[in-house]
Amino acid sequence: MTDDSIHAAQRLTSVRAAIDRVARLTDRNGDAINLIAISKTQDAAAIRPLIAAGQRVFGENRVQEAQDKWPALREAHADIALHHVGQLQSNKATEAVALFDVIHGLDRPSLLTALARAMDAAGRRIPCYIQVNIGAEPQKGGCAIADTPALIAVARSADIPLLGLMCVPPADVEPAPYFALLAKMAREQGLPRLSMGMSGDFETAIMLGATDVRIGTALFGERQAPARPVPGSGRGMIRNAPAR
Ligand SMILES: *Cc1c(COP(=O)(O)O)cnc(C)c1O
Repeated sequence: MTDDSIHAAQRLTSVRAAIDRVARLTDRNGDAINLIAISKTQDAAAIRPLIAAGQRVFGENRVQEAQDKWPALREAHADIALHHVGQLQSNKATEAVALFDVIHGLDRPSLLTALARAMDAAGRRIPCYIQVNIGAEPQKGGCAIADTPALIAVARSADIPLLGLMCVPPADVEPAPYFALLAKMAREQGLPRLSMGMSGDFETAIMLGATDVRIGTALFGERQAPARPVPGSGRGMIRNAPAR
C-alpha cells in the first residue's frame, strides 16, 4: 500500500468510527447512516485509495467534472453509487439523469420539470432530495421553507421518487437549530431521509436524525483553493471551480 492509500483508509476508518459512536447515542446502528464521500475537485488518484478502502458512495457537484472522472473509476466497480449534491442547472438534467444515482439539489419547479422530462426520456427514475434553503440565505440554492410543501406535492405528482430533505445550514453559526427544523419539516411531510451534515457538523446532524452525511474534507483533506469565475469572461467558469 502507498502512503496515500494508508492515509485514506485511516481517515475513512476514523470518520466511520465517529459516525458509529454518534449513531449509537441515538439508538441507531452506524451502518444505517449513509456516508457520501464528496470527491469534488479531487482527482482519480485521490479517489482510488478510498475505493480500495471500501468506500462505495461518492458525491460530486459539477456534472462536467463528474463525467470526466467517473466512467473510468466506475468501470472496475459496478457497485459504486454516484450522488449529485448542490446546485444543478436545468439544462444539465439529461446528463445528470444518465450519470447520477441520486440527486440532492432538487429545489425549484423549473428543475423539477426538466428532471421529470429527462427521467421519462431515459426510462429511469432517479431518487431525489428536495434541498431546502433552511437559513433563508439569498445567495444559496434551496427551496424557500414556505414553498417546500408545494414543491414536494408537484414532485410526487410528477412521479419523482423523493427520499427526503437536504440542507446546507448557514456558515459560522450553530447548525443544530437548522438541522432540527429540517427534521421537523421532513416528519411533517412523511419523508423518511435527511441529507445533512458535512465535515464540520456531521455529528450534530446525526444526533438530530441525519440519515445521509456528505463528507469531503474529513476524508480527502483540504480542497485546493477554489478557482473563482473570471469577471467578464462570459460562460467562463474555470474548471474545477468550487461549489457554492
Ligand atoms: C462540498 C460539499 C460538501 C462537503 O463539504 P466538506 O466540508 O468538505 O465535508 C457537502 N455538501 C455539499 C452540498 C457540498 O457542496
